[in-house]
Amino acid sequence: MPSPHPDWRHRLAHALPSTGWRTRFAPAPTGYLHLGHLVNALHVWGMARAHGGTVLLRIEDHDGTRCRPEYEAALLDDLEWLGLHPDVYAPPTFRADWSGHAARQSNQHARYATALESLHAAGLVYPCRCTRRDIAIQVPHQPGEEPCYPGTCREASVPPGESFARRVRLDPFIAGFDDLRLGPMVHEPARQCGDLLVRDRHAQWTYQFAVVVDDQAHDIDVVIRGEDLLASTGRQLQLAALLGRTRPLRFLHHALLVHPDGSKLSKATRDTSLREMRAAGARPEALLAEAARRAGLVQRDTLPVTALAELFG
Ligand code: GLU
Repeated sequence: MPSPHPDWRHRLAHALPSTGWRTRFAPAPTGYLHLGHLVNALHVWGMARAHGGTVLLRIEDHDGTRCRPEYEAALLDDLEWLGLHPDVYAPPTFRADWSGHAARQSNQHARYATALESLHAAGLVYPCRCTRRDIAIQVPHQPGEEPCYPGTCREASVPPGESFARRVRLDPFIAGFDDLRLGPMVHEPARQCGDLLVRDRHAQWTYQFAVVVDDQAHDIDVVIRGEDLLASTGRQLQLAALLGRTRPLRFLHHALLVHPDGSKLSKATRDTSLREMRAAGARPEALLAEAARRAGLVQRDTLPVTALAELFG
């Protein structure tokens, strides 16, 4: 992972517009929120509050097989308890009915279908019958390493009715961006991941596709997320360009929390679940301080939600 610019927090004031920009907090309701999500939320709300941005909450429930309403209810409840209130598409109070307000992916089939159609009209979409296993055989790679799709079905003329899966051609393209924390980056999606899966064989929209279409539909200006998604950024920029995005999009990838043995925090880890810590009597300002301390942002025993801007000011 590239090292952060030592002064990145002080540089935000120059790098971000002074007001009127929009970012998003975009959790997937596939488990309970944990300290890692809180670190992401600290960056999202803190940067927005410090530099004139607004926060949109988007429920990333595109994968109907893994999302659960009880996780969504829990995450809304955790955000309310923490005092992290979104500015866009939120009801006036958290206790109100969210059904008509929250931006969510599960009811955006028409939006994704229209976007896919525009790529199709440009001759960029093809049906694909390759499974993950097929690809692993076609492209030997180490565990944890991303296989680059070799384009097997690109020329294979798979009949559209045979598979729901669709890929978008990613021709050679240099995706350059200046990460607000890590500095200048250059990605070459055609060499990193190859043609991108946008809908899988079960007709589920993929994360990569849904997030790009939504960031455009929601007028997102700044994407603030963990370093685990850094590798996705070039392909998302290329896809956004293919979808006709002209509005500039900035990125900040923050450090991830890890366990002492270096493993990633997951929704299954009970020791960092906000629910568990709440049940054990933790206060919001203590949890915010704990997340900020573990993210290397500030050493404090308590961090009121009203003080988040100070971390990035
Ligand atoms: N929904 C994604 C997650 O929970 C975040 C997507 C993004 O920030 O691009 O990891």
